[in-house]
Amino acid sequence: MDKNKAVKNLDKVISKVEAARLRVSEHHIVKIIGISKYSNAEDVAMLYNAGQRAFGENKVQDLKQKSQELDELPLEWHFVGRLQKNKINNLIDLNPTLMQSLDSLELAYELNKKLKTKNKTMSCLLQINSAKEDSKAGVLPEEAKEVYEKISKECSNIKLKGIMSIGAHVEDREIITNSFKITKSIFDELKEYNPKYCSMGMSSDFELAIACGSNMIRVGSTLFK
Ligand SMILES: *Cc1c(COP(=O)(O)O)cnc(C)c1O
Repeated sequence: MDKNKAVKNLDKVISKVEAARLRVSEHHIVKIIGISKYSNAEDVAMLYNAGQRAFGENKVQDLKQKSQELDELPLEWHFVGRLQKNKINNLIDLNPTLMQSLDSLELAYELNKKLKTKNKTMSCLLQINSAKEDSKAGVLPEEAKEVYEKISKECSNIKLKGIMSIGAHVEDREIITNSFKITKSIFDELKEYNPKYCSMGMSSDFELAIACGSNMIRVGSTLFK
């Protein structure tokens, strides 16, 4: 990717996000996370120069490599992938801005235990498997509130900031919309916990996700192509 391409890609995403969020409300602010998993540090730096500040990775090793390589830049780093138990300590040491893929109570307990040992905290989103797809991680919609409550009460080193979900992996826009609506309704049900982020929407469906109430999108391929 060259400099012009980075500016063009980012401008395109920003324009679409801007139009989509204004259709919801003038006050509906959407945060854009650039998912750099298919790309390299050089391209992240290009997008940084174009104005993008928040990036995400789905592997701890890649997060480590890119964040260290770009150590000089004031970037936010998000983790969005499956976290294996044996990588928990590595992730904690990287101080991610937001861990978006806390996908079970079991993982929360394990993460909390290790955070305690290191006397640290981590901001996280509870991942919801709203489309109920076997291939996807996350808690089921009907369990979401209970699990969110339990983590909030029992895991003092985890700072829950909301929820994350991946839209249904189908062509049918109605089915995708439905999975986003389920996620948004869970977000609304959590009001008493003051959730901040409803993270949903990727390259192929972020405008739809915003229309359904998303306030954080994770775009990879469309930004880094
Ligand atoms: C890869 C990935 C994205 C970005 O996907 P694109 O379709 O390339 O925009 C978003 N969220 C998660 C959890 C991912 O793994």
